[in-house]
Amino acid sequence: MSTIQYPQDSDLRSLVRFCAEKGLIWLDESRMILMHAAALSALRKELIESLGIDQARRILTRMGYASGARDAELAKKVRNGKCTKDVFSAGPQLHMLEGSVLVTPVTLDMDVKAGTFYGEFLWDNSYEAEVHVREFGHAEHPVCWMQIGYASGYTSAFMGRFILFKEVACAATGNNQCRIVGKPVDEWPDAAQHTPYYEADSILSQMLELRGQVDALRATLERTQQPPNLIGSSAGFRHAYDLIDKAAATQVTVLLLGETGVGKERFARALHDMSRRAAGPFVAVNCAALPHDLIESELFGVEKGAFTGAHASRAGKFERAEGGTLFLDEVGELPLAAQAKLLRVLQEGEIERLGDERVRKINVRLVAATNVDLQAAVKAGRFRSDLYYRLNVYPVRIPPLRDRIADIQPMVEAMLLRFSALHDKRIAGITDKALRALRGYPWPGNIRELENIIERGMILTPQNEWIEIEHLFAEPQDFGSAQQIVDDSGNLADADCAIENLCTRIVEAGIGLDDLEEALLQHAVKESGGNLSGAARLLRITRPQLNYRLKKKESAT
Ligand SMILES: [Zn+2]
Repeated sequence: MSTIQYPQDSDLRSLVRFCAEKGLIWLDESRMILMHAAALSALRKELIESLGIDQARRILTRMGYASGARDAELAKKVRNGKCTKDVFSAGPQLHMLEGSVLVTPVTLDMDVKAGTFYGEFLWDNSYEAEVHVREFGHAEHPVCWMQIGYASGYTSAFMGRFILFKEVACAATGNNQCRIVGKPVDEWPDAAQHTPYYEADSILSQMLELRGQVDALRATLERTQQPPNLIGSSAGFRHAYDLIDKAAATQVTVLLLGETGVGKERFARALHDMSRRAAGPFVAVNCAALPHDLIESELFGVEKGAFTGAHASRAGKFERAEGGTLFLDEVGELPLAAQAKLLRVLQEGEIERLGDERVRKINVRLVAATNVDLQAAVKAGRFRSDLYYRLNVYPVRIPPLRDRIADIQPMVEAMLLRFSALHDKRIAGITDKALRALRGYPWPGNIRELENIIERGMILTPQNEWIEIEHLFAEPQDFGSAQQIVDDSGNLADADCAIENLCTRIVEAGIGLDDLEEALLQHAVKESGGNLSGAARLLRITRPQLNYRLKKKESAT
């Protein structure tokens, strides 16, 4: 380590030229500006107040850096041929000449070729510390941002590698002077806290990025805004919904699977609404509801005189769904003859009305649904395997309501609103107990059954009162509290039934009564962490009864 003395700065002073008549000031070949420190101070204040400390600091640091890098070029040019330290000294000397700060070297060890650098300097009369204190009072952290940027920029340009200067003490924080230390950036363990201030990061690009994020969020929001007849956030629902969402953008034939009443038509309509066909018609047909001899004319249309009773030509559902979506519910109920025609429509994209020679092109997306096992129907010969494979390209299974317990409450709330409007009736809501009962019920009829029960409850509940369990279930004996227990997951279960099932399993497993008692006692003791009173409570017996049974076991072994 060695200290340095500055060489004479007359070489630098001679580079400053005032050409007032041309409105120019030069530092060698660089145009300079003589401006009021107060003006820079005002700019600095403005930056801090409008952009915040971090952005202001970043901008000023980079501004200083650019200035320092320029002076490094000048130093090399003016002091070409001198010893390295004298050349380097041009930097601090220019910094002083430019009126920023008084720089006193403490230590300077450098080797340009080897890329090593360690420099320590004291700063007095720091312009930035002075204006900062005047505007904001004493600071908590060093504030000579533009000057530290200058030191870093100068040295980095000089050394040909990033030398990071840090203000380890600053006059603005109450010290007598500022002290700065410079080292190659990778030698600072906390470099990451400082380097961001040297990086280009325009406010504009940040705003554009934020704007992009807002747009993306808005898009997600729009995508998650489910059509009003689809409510749910349970994992099973979301999975089905995502599949529908992905299919919506395509033309794929979708097969909706699931039990009766799970809302297959709602999903089909949602798929339609989310697709590019949304402006076109959505036509729903329940194949099970049509007489077999009418199904074909209903689906494919009929020409006048095609059969007895065909008094006029009529378009079928496929034609009516032109440009939109045709929903075929309970497609497993289609007679074999209609299945053959449907297969042809899917393969060729065209239909023939009954009794018509003409072939009509159609542009319809088919969504089929079934609650029967189509594969089994294929095996039994009731369903064509080729049609099955056509339909089963994109199957979406809609979970039964009992697997979507989390969705029951939001569904019930939406139904209450709807029925409240429909029946012109205001109720206070649904009791916790009633809601719990709804969550525990197995829902064989799924959402359709839930709707019926809520509508019934709405009608039975007096105006402005709460819906209670007895308003919901028509047969109270099924829900008498005597037969019901609330299981671990908070669901209602039939206590007798639970014990019955347990007994069956125990007997099937060949577990003897003694072994069962032994296991039960040990389990209770273990569960209560060896606390016998706790174990007795778990087994719903008294402590002496437990002791007696345990002793009996011990003496038996
Ligand atoms: Zn300072």
